[in-house]
Amino acid sequence: NQGIGSWPARRARMTPERVALSYRGRDRTYRELLERVYRLACALGGTLGVRRGDRVAFLGVNQPAMVETFFAAGLLGAVFVPLNTRLAEPELRYILEDAEAAVLVLGEERDGGGLPGRHVGAAEYEELIASGSPEPVDEPVSQDDICLIMYTSGTTGRPKGAMLTHGNLTWNAVNLLVDVPLAHDEVVLISAPMFHIAALAQTLIPCVLKGGRAVLEPSFDVDRTYDLIERERVTVMFGVPSMFGFIAQSPRWPTADLSSLRHLLCGGAPVPEPLIRTYQERGLTFLQGYGMTETSPGALFLGAERSVDKAGTAGVPCFFSDVRLVAPDGSPAAPGRPGELYVQGPNVMAGYWRRPEDTAKVLSDDGWFRSGDIGVADEDGYVRISDRINDLIISGGENIYPAEVESALYEHPAVAECAVIGVPDERWGEVGKALVVLRPDHRAGADDLLKHLDGRLARYKIPKYVEFVGELPKNAAGKLLKAPLRKLYGGG
Ligand code: ATP
Ligand code: MG
Repeated sequence: NQGIGSWPARRARMTPERVALSYRGRDRTYRELLERVYRLACALGGTLGVRRGDRVAFLGVNQPAMVETFFAAGLLGAVFVPLNTRLAEPELRYILEDAEAAVLVLGEERDGGGLPGRHVGAAEYEELIASGSPEPVDEPVSQDDICLIMYTSGTTGRPKGAMLTHGNLTWNAVNLLVDVPLAHDEVVLISAPMFHIAALAQTLIPCVLKGGRAVLEPSFDVDRTYDLIERERVTVMFGVPSMFGFIAQSPRWPTADLSSLRHLLCGGAPVPEPLIRTYQERGLTFLQGYGMTETSPGALFLGAERSVDKAGTAGVPCFFSDVRLVAPDGSPAAPGRPGELYVQGPNVMAGYWRRPEDTAKVLSDDGWFRSGDIGVADEDGYVRISDRINDLIISGGENIYPAEVESALYEHPAVAECAVIGVPDERWGEVGKALVVLRPDHRAGADDLLKHLDGRLARYKIPKYVEFVGELPKNAAGKLLKAPLRKLYGGG
């Protein structure tokens, strides 16, 4: 078995007594993890009849059962399908039906009421493990077999199921380890949800590869994060920028003992430069990454050495991956010029589950994946991610990149948050409209903001409209959702 399902066995033969998982104060060694994974795989394959290629879904927050189900499915050559716990029932139903899951394993906090298919609740789960044999399971699984169908975050539309192979996830871990020298004694805090790619592929999988200890948290909580860092002496954690923002805003920030932290991995959205500086002042450096579900996820990486002087960029391509920027006319984008970012490499997905047309739109025959994101490289090849192609505004034939306008707006002291969208215009086709959330203790009118932009930006980039709003919609991953903004405010 060349798949990731075999990793607990590989680890247990090297370091059986090391702790693999900590959860709510309970530790499980690699030997114990392996025994439970074998028992579960045996019961899934026997009692529940799960076969190679069948989908095994999991609905729940981070917990040991999620990790065990992932590895047990992998051992059987079955496909793990983690579900986003924040989705509403119709959305979950859509994914379960789309994936045609043979079994749905439920986290201890869930009941499967209303969802289709065969459920395994927490009590039955323990019964299955008790009844299963601890004998080794040995299915022929290759690196090219599908390990995981992970649904994208759904920022730009309905979530799509990205099919990731065992090889994709293995190479992603290798790409990470080339840049982040994880040790054998790492204590990895996993509080971002493993139903998104980053927590699973950038923390759990490399942690098991190195034989480290994963501290699982059901959800992200600032105080719990401080408690765990101090008590468990956490050395590695991953977060999206907003999580690191909340940590720094806590009253515990100035005095907490953060001396155990070795590597802070941050990605999923642009990391604001003030946040980088705040952490820098405490001697903490972010390792930043850019990626997406379809690339398992790492595509660009900004290591510790350049994290300050290249702040604001997402770095250079990961060691075994290639990235290119393609200008609108199809030629390579020159340094300083925007282009759509394409990724090629052993971490690029096999395709979207049962969506050949969508796959053909983004994946070329020679393996280049179109990200739909716009990036700009500097002279040294460090790429700044600016916008998503769908968010571009085309005004009088000129492209307006909303991120550029937004960062100019952010320089105004009264602006807490902003988003620029395109609205129809008779004369120009489209013009920009800025939606602005003001800081609670500041005041500014539309004229003040427009005056602020005058001289900072070319005339055509200055929004025609400014509207003040109470808040901006975000998804569970903290990403700004421009589609609903366009629906709400796009009328002009
Ligand atoms: P969907 O594809 O369903 O619309 P999504 O693209 O948000 O959702 P993910 O695969 O979770 O789903 O997120 C990948 C996207 O996140 C990237 O395409 C990019 O737009 C954004 N992103 C990730 N990392 C960074 C980063 N470091 N800087 C800027 N944007 C980032
Ligand atoms: Mg996407």
